[in-house]
Amino acid sequence: MTEQEPVRSDFIREIIENDLATGKHGGRVQTRFPPEPNGYLHVGHAKAICLNFGIARQYGGKCNLRFDDTNPTKEETEYVDSIMEDVRWLGFEWDGLYYASDYFEQLYQWAVQLIEAGKAFVCDLTADQVREFRGSPMEAGRPSPFRDRPVGENLDLFRRMRAGEFPDGARTLRAKVDMASPNINLRDPVLYRILHATHHRTGDAWCIYPMYDFAHGQCDSIEQITHSICTLEFEIHRPLYDWFIRELGIFAPRQIEFARLNLTYTVMSKRKLLQLVQENFVSGWDDPRMPTIAGMRRRGYTPEGLRAFCATIGVTKFNSLTDVALLEHHLRDDLNRRALRVMAVLDPIKVVIDNYPEGQSEELDAINNPEDASMGTRKVPFSREIYIERDDFREDPPKKFFRLAPGREVRLRYAYFLRCERVVKDEATGEIKELHCTYDPATRGGNAPDGRKVQATIHWVSVPQSLAVEVRDYDRLYLKEDTNDLGENEDWRTHINPKSLIVNTSARVEPGLAQARIGTAYQFERQGYYCLDSVDVTRDRLVFNRTVGLKDSWAKIEKRGV
Ligand code: ATP
Ligand code: MG
Repeated sequence: MTEQEPVRSDFIREIIENDLATGKHGGRVQTRFPPEPNGYLHVGHAKAICLNFGIARQYGGKCNLRFDDTNPTKEETEYVDSIMEDVRWLGFEWDGLYYASDYFEQLYQWAVQLIEAGKAFVCDLTADQVREFRGSPMEAGRPSPFRDRPVGENLDLFRRMRAGEFPDGARTLRAKVDMASPNINLRDPVLYRILHATHHRTGDAWCIYPMYDFAHGQCDSIEQITHSICTLEFEIHRPLYDWFIRELGIFAPRQIEFARLNLTYTVMSKRKLLQLVQENFVSGWDDPRMPTIAGMRRRGYTPEGLRAFCATIGVTKFNSLTDVALLEHHLRDDLNRRALRVMAVLDPIKVVIDNYPEGQSEELDAINNPEDASMGTRKVPFSREIYIERDDFREDPPKKFFRLAPGREVRLRYAYFLRCERVVKDEATGEIKELHCTYDPATRGGNAPDGRKVQATIHWVSVPQSLAVEVRDYDRLYLKEDTNDLGENEDWRTHINPKSLIVNTSARVEPGLAQARIGTAYQFERQGYYCLDSVDVTRDRLVFNRTVGLKDSWAKIEKRGV
């Protein structure tokens, strides 16, 4: 990470500072980011990454990347690789790289320890029966008929579960906690299930797999995690987290919960994102419309913009819905600083400059970034025929339209004053074919020696040198503001926007973009921020993605005091 976002304090940092002050872990801060490799990371994960890695950096501590790979049927190496790439791209590097599966043998031994202590038993109830016996928060659960199995029998059955003697679902290992607890998680939770499935790392070495609750805290403990930061839904799992640590007598990390990020118009559950991919609503996990880190990267989002957003939202204990405009605001802020300005005409209309000599052309100086003089200048060609934006001309200009119109003069950015003399239309359709204009050679560079003013400056590209490119514009992928607000039988997919991808194949850009590079941000002046698509671009076809528009809707929202 090149620059550091200013850090605001929050309740988690207060806990850590307090622990540091009292010397709880001898001044040590150790966090971890524990994704399950069952999908690509999304912007919500970015929040957790910035939090865990940011805290370690701030307090001179360490942060591990740990893959929580205890569900062999849903996990894949592709996801592991993408997660590592995304964490690094965000600007962080892990201290230790671990997998929950590294600890399978140790977890098994701990399960045996609990059995020997009379704290765990092998249960023959089916999953449905376990659920039924557990009861509801209102009524106490009923103990499993196998709860009092002798230790020796439990040890034997558990060993045979591991050895593969029983089919999937035939038995489970459960902890003996408290069947009357109002917290259902404590009603003899399942520790191990039988699952004859090939694991992406351990292959077929195991046919029993630990449940999240039995794995997570112990993995934290093995890695000597001091502060185990997770999202709010794990708050009711904390008593169990602490129970295992206590019963096993091992190093005790502290679990701290924070509210997950919810963004307006943004689907953020991996299950749903997987559906979008599998059901071809998008081209893949890295489709620029996806709220995945890979999708955002391809769309042209920057790590700095994402980190600044995460720093602003901070962490709280209360679930809320963050306006996606705030994310775009931070992105725009960052892109404004770094983007190379270029001229691109998205919906071209041809202009013939009648008094410009035929066959002649010239090069004009253009500024690469008015925010950053060190980015220098470039040359853009100008000639007798140029394209301007269809929107920048009106045959019948309404009151507040100050751009080009018949008889009116405007400034061509970095070039000359241009006056519209005549409109040529297609006889059959009545559509405007081209404009005939004149230019004033004395206004080179954009100012008239006689001091006369124009009301507008418009962008343009020179016809013969311009490049035809494809430009992809994106609308919201999801049309409902609060993606979690769904009726009981409502299919979330009915709110997917069928027109979220708008492909424009008639755009023309200045010739310098032939050298456009993947990963560089461009501002198409007066249009928005764009980047070269990293996947679909070929030697003879440039494809640009619209990252975000220029208009800052967040600034407006903020002004209204919302
Ligand atoms: P999802 O619910 O989207 O499928 P998950 O929580 O199952 O995500 P994990 O791979 O388990 O995904 O998440 C890794 C870490 O990222 C966890 O610590 C989790 O709490 C955190 N995380 C996931 N989603 C969010 C979010 N929206 N905001 C903040 N943190 C999140
Ligand atoms: Mg999870």
